[in-house]
Amino acid sequence: MTPRVVIITGGSRGLGAGIVDSFLANGDIVATCSRSATDRTERWAADPATADRFLFAAVDIVDSAAAAAFVGEVVTRFGRVDILVNNAGIARDGMIAVALEEDIDTVLDLNLRATFVMTRLVTRRMLRQGSGSIVNISSVVGTAGYRGLSIYSATKAGLDGFTRSLARELGSRGITVNSVAPGYLRTEMSHGLDEAQLNQIARRTPAGRLGEPEDIGSVVVFLTSPAAGFITGQTIVVDGGLTA
Ligand code: NAP
Repeated sequence: MTPRVVIITGGSRGLGAGIVDSFLANGDIVATCSRSATDRTERWAADPATADRFLFAAVDIVDSAAAAAFVGEVVTRFGRVDILVNNAGIARDGMIAVALEEDIDTVLDLNLRATFVMTRLVTRRMLRQGSGSIVNISSVVGTAGYRGLSIYSATKAGLDGFTRSLARELGSRGITVNSVAPGYLRTEMSHGLDEAQLNQIARRTPAGRLGEPEDIGSVVVFLTSPAAGFITGQTIVVDGGLTA
């Protein structure tokens, strides 16, 4: 199979880095961005096994012009975009009654607005190509809710709605759009939860553990494969049975 060109936002660490690994292991070409480089992005760029099919750019995707320049750089280097994984996201813990407006803006601007802008940019190319796959990373809290995460949860529910409408808009043009809703993963984002809360979540999870980035990465790769060509507009929950 010809390697596909994949854009993954926020692939420098955490879940995004796991998704980068999954696509690189699948033989695809991966471009990712985040505000800062990490050891992992430097390793992929230097490793002879991945260097010629990996691109990292330090980009804050909330800056629409910078996001557009990044997509342009990907197309200049690799010629097309086949897959977009909207992974970059941020959470701000806290009860709504004391939430700061700047925190509300930060969460909305990245989780929703920047995702819409990035999708708009990439969709224009996919429409010209007549094919593509988009995967939005939402969360089980978008449907199940979580005390202290109301704003973040609302953005994740919003992403699932975005997925459903976009699937209807793009289905006839050969483009699939799905959400993957992970349960709880041990990444920097979950550092707001203490060890006791994480252990409690693991105990309540039928699989008996928290999720790992590769649990999610394999599902994202599947959703972009020809085998999943008839799946669109769905939210696939990957949570070890937590919300079953
Ligand atoms: P994380 O460890 O905090 O990583 C977030 C990634 O996004 C980093 O690469 C970060 O790099 C990048 N990023 C943040 N702000 C950015 C911006 N403005 N522009 C570009 N890149 C930006 O988070 P994670 O746990 O891997 O979460 C990844 C996704 O999974 C998120 O959408 C999250 O909501 C979702 N999720 C996570 C969990 C969980 O339990 N962790 C559960 C369900 C869903 P920089 O900081 O350098 O920009």
